[in-house]
Amino acid sequence: MNKLKATILRIGHRFERDKRISTHIALVGRAFGAQELVLDSKDSRVKEGIDEVNENWGGGFEVRFIENWKSFVEGFDGTKIHLTMYGININDVKFPLGKENVLVIVGGKKVPPQIYGMVDYNIAVGNQPHSEVAALAVFLDRFFEGKELDREFAGKQKIIPQKCGKKVVRY
Ligand code: SAM
Repeated sequence: MNKLKATILRIGHRFERDKRISTHIALVGRAFGAQELVLDSKDSRVKEGIDEVNENWGGGFEVRFIENWKSFVEGFDGTKIHLTMYGININDVKFPLGKENVLVIVGGKKVPPQIYGMVDYNIAVGNQPHSEVAALAVFLDRFFEGKELDREFAGKQKIIPQKCGKKVVRY
């Protein structure tokens, strides 16, 4: 998994309504091995929330902002994936993908129709409507073949897994 790299692009973030869902996209991205979340509008609250999680729990997951998603997608050097219920079922996608660097695009309420033709693959996590957060988690787990869940994060605290009870050490 060391060489594999995933950037998430969330299209259609609305400042008034989407702080929580974009924060969840970032949390899932961080926990499931991606490097960064790119948002198509500036919302410092999402970045601040994740910076705080990084500080406490470790890792260097980044949130950054762009103005033009179209030129960002066009300029991305790697395999471009759009997660959508209209795509090919993820069970029919052969992993590993061609390139080690992927851009994973997730939408919101509506995605611009051009996106379907701009990517290498439109991938569905089952062909039923659900959520960008769930779709992202399943995609990243397939992409990193489950190895992302064994990574160590160097933070101020660490969970010592327990079958019963709860144990956290603080450094
Ligand atoms: N009609 C949308 C679609 O194209 O998937 C559903 C909108 S849903 C509220 C928001 C986002 O969740 C979508 O843009 C897509 O990225 C993701 N999503 C929802 N269901 C999905 C599925 N079955 N497979 C992959 N992604 C999905």
